[in-house]
Amino acid sequence: MSRGFSIGIVGGGAAAVCLIDALAGAQGGPGSITVFEPSPHLWRGRAYQPDTETLRVNATPDDMSVRAADPGHFERWLETHDRIAGTTNGLDRWSGVRFAPRTVYGDYLEQSACTALADLRRQGWQVNLIGESVEAAVRTADEVVLRSGRGNVRPFDYVALCVGGDSPEDTYGLSGAPGFTADPYPILGTLQEIDADDHIGVIGSGLTSVDIILSLAGRGHRGRISLLSRSGVLPGVRQRPVPFELRHFTPERMGLLWRQQRELSIEELGAIMTDEFREVGADLRAVMSELLQEGREDPVDVLRRQFADVDSPHMGLRILRRAVPETGPDVWPLLRAQDKAEVLRAHYRTVMSLCCPMPPSSAAVLLELFGTGQLQSHSGLRTVAPRPGGGFDVVTERAAFTTDRVINAVNAASGRIPAAAKPLVTSLVDGNAARQHPHGGLHLARATSRLTVDGTPDPRLYGLGNIGSGSLFFTWGLPSLVDRSVDIAAAILAHASGLDATRTEEVLVST
Ligand SMILES: Cc1cc2nc3c(=O)[nH]c(=O)nc-3n(C[C@H](O)[C@H](O)[C@H](O)COP(=O)(O)OP(=O)(O)OC[C@H]3O[C@@H](n4cnc5c(N)ncnc54)[C@H](O)[C@@H]3O)c2cc1C
Repeated sequence: MSRGFSIGIVGGGAAAVCLIDALAGAQGGPGSITVFEPSPHLWRGRAYQPDTETLRVNATPDDMSVRAADPGHFERWLETHDRIAGTTNGLDRWSGVRFAPRTVYGDYLEQSACTALADLRRQGWQVNLIGESVEAAVRTADEVVLRSGRGNVRPFDYVALCVGGDSPEDTYGLSGAPGFTADPYPILGTLQEIDADDHIGVIGSGLTSVDIILSLAGRGHRGRISLLSRSGVLPGVRQRPVPFELRHFTPERMGLLWRQQRELSIEELGAIMTDEFREVGADLRAVMSELLQEGREDPVDVLRRQFADVDSPHMGLRILRRAVPETGPDVWPLLRAQDKAEVLRAHYRTVMSLCCPMPPSSAAVLLELFGTGQLQSHSGLRTVAPRPGGGFDVVTERAAFTTDRVINAVNAASGRIPAAAKPLVTSLVDGNAARQHPHGGLHLARATSRLTVDGTPDPRLYGLGNIGSGSLFFTWGLPSLVDRSVDIAAAILAHASGLDATRTEEVLVST
């Protein structure tokens, strides 16, 4: 491995931090790393930029570590941070868990990236940080040539696309209307324009909507807040953690099935899950009925019920919440095309709501606001339109009313290529170096995250994070980023050293 190979990383958010940390930990090379990131908030990406401390991560510290095989990495960093800052932010009194402010988590990402890059430098690597976006890529015979926004052209032996997800969708075509906020982040800026008595319409009912409501409540908003959405499904409520390990529904078992070239039917998947539930005496039927309940129960009643269950000894939801992010990307490529389509069509929203839950303290604030009537949930949203004299007309299946302002919190589909990366991805697809996946993002290989074209993985091109969500399902949470970073680092280092053991393994036309 004496020839210094070069790695280009496009995007400098959490995914890039995980990949750099994995490369530092792998002790391969040395080579060179170049990171392209146009944002002034390098390493923080969309989620962890400087903003109000009301915004919290929604996962426990062990699920927010960027370091493979070291789930305590973030928690230890947080303890040191607390000692220096003299504060302990984000302790949730209902679950006893720390949900750190996202801006503090951004500090952790910055520091982790700097530490890993310094480590790589000590190992002899060259490091370049370029404050530009990448606009195009060309796959030549044995390189990937990147062209940046300012027209600089650089060849790399390996390129990893870590471009993240897109900003909220403007479903109702309101961009440009006075009083409409197309993208709520950073929320501090958004809230500055709002009068405390305004009636605020928030379009969407996911975690971004929860961020907006908590931030409005935190600054003493007095006006009405109307949650406007089609389904009304709110994020679930995280339960008090109970330690356990997955024993049946594991990435290792799915990897074995993959190597045996087995497809997995929904019935077989159910049987493996049943074993997992039986292991801890949990009730699979209760979780299935929660999944099938969508839309049949009032969202506020669901929230109240889930909040009351924070301390529940039943393990079912805890298993689901562990299994989907941890094993989901390994299960997904094994499923039949029609089963994947059905999961996405009928259950995606509920699975995401249950598997990306909010901290109980957030649920408590929401329930208080629902209780006083200041916050109302309106499902069955049909239209939102600007009024000629200012404000907005809102029409749902059951009501019609006006709001003073509208804030957009409609999450973009997880695999939608972000606007900033569209020209780059288009150039790869047009150049036959990548294929768009029908469920979003690009076609990726399961074990290495290499981009695939007609089932053939490219050892020089990799995708990490949202860009893999059509191929691998749950790819953007930190545990998934960490696992796939290890795969990518291993695949790059193996290929660079001529030991590409994974070359023949990945023949997949995933649908
Ligand atoms: C508001 C919000 C809150 C979240 N909270 C949590 C949480 O609490 N826990 C959790 O596990 N996950 C959370 N997530 C999921 C989140 O997506 C991941 O945690 C993580 O941030 C994803 O990292 P990423 O690097 O893939 O994407 P990002 O962090 O978005 O970074 C992608 C980067 O790529 C850059 N980029 C894009 N195109 C180009 C280009 N052409 N050239 C160069 N650079 C480019 C962008 O500028 C951006 O900085 C949250 C997401 C959001 C949006």
